[in-house]
Amino acid sequence: MNHLTEKIESLKEMLSAAHKAVVVTHTNPDGDAIGSSLAWSHILQHSFGLEVSCIIPNRYPGFLSWQPHISEVLIDKDTPEEVARVVGEADIIFCLDFNLIDRLENLAEAIKANTTAKRVLIDHHLNPPAEFDLAFSHPELCSTAYVVYTIVEDLVGTDALDTDAATNLYVGIMTDTGNFSFSSLTPDLFRAVAVLVEKGINISAINTSVYNTFTEDRVRLLGHSLCNKMTLVDHGKAAYISLTEREMRKFNFQLGDSEGFVNYPLTIVGVKISAMFLATRKFIRVSLRSRGETDVNIFARRYFGGGGHKNAAGGKSFVSMAQTVEYFERVVKEYLAEGGKGE
Ligand code: 5GP
Ligand code: MN
Repeated sequence: MNHLTEKIESLKEMLSAAHKAVVVTHTNPDGDAIGSSLAWSHILQHSFGLEVSCIIPNRYPGFLSWQPHISEVLIDKDTPEEVARVVGEADIIFCLDFNLIDRLENLAEAIKANTTAKRVLIDHHLNPPAEFDLAFSHPELCSTAYVVYTIVEDLVGTDALDTDAATNLYVGIMTDTGNFSFSSLTPDLFRAVAVLVEKGINISAINTSVYNTFTEDRVRLLGHSLCNKMTLVDHGKAAYISLTEREMRKFNFQLGDSEGFVNYPLTIVGVKISAMFLATRKFIRVSLRSRGETDVNIFARRYFGGGGHKNAAGGKSFVSMAQTVEYFERVVKEYLAEGGKGE
């Protein structure tokens, strides 16, 4: 029996003993977090007859509000008592698209309080900790949605996916690959996408729903960010954009409005690392992107208490915007001078 088959067998055993499942994903959920969680919830419900609650820590951005079955998710920030109850009653808890339970903030307490439920990880982030009973951890795959697809293939076969589940998986794959433009694009991935297309998904409609539903304010905020706020440092090898709460108010900032901004500076020749600093009430959210061998996962872990993937990572800063920017300018220069790979 190979390694994956063994894990699938363990998963089958766990599922046959379970009645109530919780599927939970990360704070500030993105297309992959929501898409993979909803599709996996579908399988648990329809192929295994489980009672399933799909939980997210806080609200999802507006451009995902059309996703099939999204109205069924429980939002911890909105209904914490209900969420604590279903987490407490669960006999199996699936963690999707993140690997540190502490990243769930308030929700982490409820999950830790349930000491009897099995904990299963389905994820593609680097450095998973050993706090799971079973872990499908695949940093080599483009998205958690694709990890879910490969599990479904082995566990029950892809006939178990309907058009809605296929749409949700496609959203995860599409958004985490930057609409099929980043790395990890393998022949097998496109074969999987072909199966999703056979399920009747509408690619152009999905594309429009995710990428072309911005408000005028959001597009003007992008213009402001690039024209007035983008700064190149270290002779054009790094760039950053910072947004203060005042600027966000001016452009009627809605959750998710700055999604993708951090990618733009990387389209400039020579830029190896791009950063976005977004002020929130409690801290500054840091988003990092890099190209090729330059590693922002290590950079995020070393300098901003965060992590992620080699080319896309994030973290937090607890000092002022001016101090954050000054710190970034200093450490990014140091890091790139070392080679930018954290060695
Ligand atoms: P984004 O910039 O899109 O918010 O995040 C990019 C990647 O970095 C995502 O894969 C996300 O999981 C990871 N990431 C973002 N913020 C944090 C953080 O504070 N801690 C850790 N460990 N990872 C993060
Ligand atoms: Mn993901």
